[in-house]
Amino acid sequence: MLELDQVTTRYGAITALHSASLRVDVGEMVVLVGPNGAGKTTLLNTVAGLLRSTAGSVRFEGADITRADPARLVKSGLALVPEHRRIFKDLTVEENLKLAGITATGSERRARFEDVAMLFPVLRSKWTTSAGFLSGGEAQQLAVARALMSNPRLLLLDEPTLGLAPTLVDVIFDLLVTLRDQGRTMLVVEQNARRALQLADRGYVLRSGRIVATGTGPELAAQTDLFEAFIGSPDGRSSEDHGS
Ligand code: ATP
Repeated sequence: MLELDQVTTRYGAITALHSASLRVDVGEMVVLVGPNGAGKTTLLNTVAGLLRSTAGSVRFEGADITRADPARLVKSGLALVPEHRRIFKDLTVEENLKLAGITATGSERRARFEDVAMLFPVLRSKWTTSAGFLSGGEAQQLAVARALMSNPRLLLLDEPTLGLAPTLVDVIFDLLVTLRDQGRTMLVVEQNARRALQLADRGYVLRSGRIVATGTGPELAAQTDLFEAFIGSPDGRSSEDHGS
């Protein structure tokens, strides 16, 4: 479904991604892990059309999307939930969802509303609350719900548990399991590396912009030495993650 072939992305003189190749097949949950600054966000943003690669190609469902703009990619079925959960804080939960589903027809939008309400009962109870008053966990759920309103065939999630307290991390992991069990195709960047890999069909380890290991999720999760060498801590959690 998604194929990156030797993709290189730069910020001026800094090469953040070096010839990275990765694929996500239909129905797979693929997890991308690596230390801070490894290039994980750069890779997701390159796929989502927010950054331009300088070499290599990105294909989505067989089509070359290397130079596609982000709006076209959303219409083609790809949605990114960015790091730091970008939601409209001055709008209500309902308004945030309506805006996200703006390209759908009335009946499609109503159907997606129903799906989202089933998946996120906590949001349904806060339909008319301004998003700025949501807790971190609720805001993250709203960010994912917004992405689902475009009914994507591929969901890209960038650090969905970043900055969340442990109980809220559990809520987001439960959500990942639900989405995986629904057969959603997902590429997830996650700092709780081992835990995420244990759920994943396959995983990739990125370090200094290069893919340095790949395998099934459980295989990678079992490699303690890999976590010590590449992630920097035995459980795969970044040392800069404090939670809140
Ligand atoms: P983190 O877990 O800290 O978010 P990451 O693996 O997502 O890290 P990226 O954010 O993709 O890493 O950054 C990869 C490299 O690119 C880093 O060296 C970073 O400093 C650099 N970088 C990221 N964004 C920019 C930018 N806008 N301008 C210049 N350099 C950048």
